[in-house]
Amino acid sequence: MIQKIAVLTSGGDAPGMNAAIRAVVRTAIFHGIEVMGVRYGYQGLIDDDIVPMESRDVANIIQMGGTMLKTARSKDFMTEEGRSKAAANLKKHGVDGLVVIGGDGSFRGACALYAEHQIPIIGIPGTIDKDISGTDYTIGFDTAVNTAIEAIDKIRDTAAAHDRLFIIEVMGRDAGYIALNSGIATGAESVLVPERITNVERVAAMIDYDQKRRKNVHIIVVAEGDDFGAEPLTHVLQHKFPAMEIRHTVLGHIQRGGSPTYYDRVQASRLGYHAVLALKDGMVQQMAGIVNNHIAFAPLDTVVKKHQPIDDDLLDMVKVLSS
Ligand code: ADP
Repeated sequence: MIQKIAVLTSGGDAPGMNAAIRAVVRTAIFHGIEVMGVRYGYQGLIDDDIVPMESRDVANIIQMGGTMLKTARSKDFMTEEGRSKAAANLKKHGVDGLVVIGGDGSFRGACALYAEHQIPIIGIPGTIDKDISGTDYTIGFDTAVNTAIEAIDKIRDTAAAHDRLFIIEVMGRDAGYIALNSGIATGAESVLVPERITNVERVAAMIDYDQKRRKNVHIIVVAEGDDFGAEPLTHVLQHKFPAMEIRHTVLGHIQRGGSPTYYDRVQASRLGYHAVLALKDGMVQQMAGIVNNHIAFAPLDTVVKKHQPIDDDLLDMVKVLSS
């Protein structure tokens, strides 16, 4: 029977993590389980930066971006020695279950901790990149896409006023979901994602075709992990179309911040709530995800093995809808 759990956020922060922390803390307390908050992710486990949490500690955070527990990347946790220290600290505090909110790297760390020290762990997918398999949803993706959309809409206004071509780089590491979804939602003429090899000649042919039919405003959304890259693309296209005004914009970290959307708040709350119920039910090494709008669990060691595939249908649709 679980009596005390700990919760941490690890890796890249994502808006909605606070909603998940709040749900974990309050669900645990509701069920008579004590909760500890670990600050600075796995590094906090090693450094014993672990504090008891009460219901009031998570008041007024559901609407905030970032994570009230802070997050970090920990080199020490990559070593067996570091993980032994982490496990010893958890034992010292009497913690018998851990909730890890983070991305696939954090889940790899959780698998190692479980394999070596058998601490029951439930992972909650928290990443704006949405690159985790076994779940349709990851915390922060919805907010990040909405932030990108807001920025791209504004850029389109100025692109239209000046007849300019804009190449806009969005986040997502080696995944193209933010690019694909923000591109569709802003009516981008092209979307370039890391999951597909970029064909510059085809992009150029499209611009050429558009110019001939006097369509002068062009938005190309490029994922940061695209094989060709937004900046080189800008140079190549400027060379091919010297008369055109081509601008390159990197949206950057604004996509990580901001108040989470209703969707991120609700889904993150669901995951936090169910993560605690799962620990209570004796689950040990699972990710709490959402599939077809239902809570779905998948073994942590299987979800880290593959990426979520990108939807070909959506990629095809971009071409049709921008024609
Ligand atoms: P994310 O969780 O957002 O993918 P990272 O990839 O940076 O972020 O991972 C977060 C942390 O998880 C790392 O700093 C490290 O402490 C831990 N971690 C990642 N991969 C491993 C691994 N293979 N073994 C142990 N710990 C890992």
